[in-house]
Amino acid sequence: MTHTLDNPRTEDLFARAATLLGELGAELPATGTLPARTPITGGTLTTLHSHSTDEVDAAIDRAAQAFHRWRTVPAPERAAVVRRLAELLTVHKVRLGELVTLEAGKIGAEAVGEVQEMIDICEFAIGLSRQLYGKTMPSERPGHRLMETWHPLGVIGVISAFNFPVAVWAWNTAVALVCGDTVVWKPSETTPLTALACHTLLRRAAADVGADPEVHQLIQGGSEVGARLVDDERVALLSATGSVRMGRAVAPKVAARFGRCLLELGGNNGAIVTPSADIELAARGIVFAAAGTAGQRCTTLRRLIVHDDAVGQLLQRVAGAYERLRVGNPLDDSVLVGPLIDGRAHDGMRIALERAIADGGELVCGGERVDGFGDDAYYVRPAIVRMPAQTAVVREETFAPILYVLTYQDFDAAIELHNAVPQGLSSAIFTGDQREAERFLAADGSDCGIANVNIGTSGAEIGGAFGGEKHTGGGRESGSDSWKAYMRRATNTVNYSDQLPLAQGIEFG
Ligand code: NAD
Repeated sequence: MTHTLDNPRTEDLFARAATLLGELGAELPATGTLPARTPITGGTLTTLHSHSTDEVDAAIDRAAQAFHRWRTVPAPERAAVVRRLAELLTVHKVRLGELVTLEAGKIGAEAVGEVQEMIDICEFAIGLSRQLYGKTMPSERPGHRLMETWHPLGVIGVISAFNFPVAVWAWNTAVALVCGDTVVWKPSETTPLTALACHTLLRRAAADVGADPEVHQLIQGGSEVGARLVDDERVALLSATGSVRMGRAVAPKVAARFGRCLLELGGNNGAIVTPSADIELAARGIVFAAAGTAGQRCTTLRRLIVHDDAVGQLLQRVAGAYERLRVGNPLDDSVLVGPLIDGRAHDGMRIALERAIADGGELVCGGERVDGFGDDAYYVRPAIVRMPAQTAVVREETFAPILYVLTYQDFDAAIELHNAVPQGLSSAIFTGDQREAERFLAADGSDCGIANVNIGTSGAEIGGAFGGEKHTGGGRESGSDSWKAYMRRATNTVNYSDQLPLAQGIEFG
């Protein structure tokens, strides 16, 4: 690379992206109307083809045709594609990670971690291919057997967000493929190059093991391209990851055609810190959860609810660590906080901080823009704001690194405050008191899909089901029994007797 890390140039970053894509086996298609930007400089790397309505229809059609063949391939054999994908991802982990950095602005360690998460879910899905278990229940009728079987569902439409441009696709695709489904993917219009790379690797994996490459289709473009998946009856499940606004637009449309929706929407994640907490450990967990990925994770810690007796000590440590965070080019290994994705994200942060201060908030540190990367690149210092109350701006998700700090005296009030937001994705408690920890995890504790003890809100493992409640949408992806969303269940009753007894003891004629 000819550019320096302190003075990155868009043309050099494009040359690097083109090299990486070539090494990943992907060809840069003819230019089109869809810009591929880099948040590192804010410049446009290249432009790509945006799919037309007819092309999207044709892609759904190919996926529907492929489904008719794929659903009868034995599940362990379907897993061969996923196994090969995992091998390719392992070989190309660092390359794909660097592409994620170039396009989404994540620091190297987090970008490679995201690719590792893809490999992890592939391994999970391979094992799952031999565990798509149904239940057998005792029948109330003599000479009868009652059981459930799970069958492939159909075409899965995957709409994904910019901030996890590759892992969320893998969560859906690895599981959907072993479940016997085919996939049509509409990635974020902000990250089309990483999407192209993933699609190429998956197609190659299919070809290498002699499977039908048509099981995966990529459609690129903006929300209008995604809207075709939403409206199409051939799409059995729409798995949509993004903002609450997007979920509000798509969910009623899918429901109107009786399709299934799996929604992974915005979060507004909180952590409670009690007086018995290990303050050093809590501070470390809080800094990663709140400032990591420049506050652009769905699970980013946005609200800190601290006991009055602990707030001074804790804030001193967290603010001290914030001052030491290096903000800058995410290609530089010493940097911990990369850029915001674009100017809109920066506007959102600026306006939220203004509102918080108008509400009586006190800026503890951060919030300012870091210059030196060009007018179109948006780097900020992560902000901490002490709030007198959980006002409207605190109850909203601002997709930027702002940590609001609230205090409490009574533990029940802290839980009430924690739950008093519309979103319900991730949550945490830092405490040394087992009763408080258990209470946080109990039915009247955190109301989120993820509730952690003595670790932050972000950085989930793939083994558990991932997702959240309330405005986060209620979906579950990734591990545990999330696979059930990608299959249809049939209840079967088999009569192996020569009688025809009816259920509930009904006599009919
Ligand atoms: P976004 O809602 O702007 O876009 C997400 C995707 O939805 C994009 O592919 C976009 O083109 C598509 N889209 C938007 N409107 C649509 C419509 N009407 N019809 C069809 N498709 C449409 O979100 P973003 O800015 O890319 O990502 C950030 C948001 O995503 C945050 O709110 C974050 O919390 C959320 N997120 C949630 C999870 C989760 O698992 N819960 C994971 C990652 C991101």
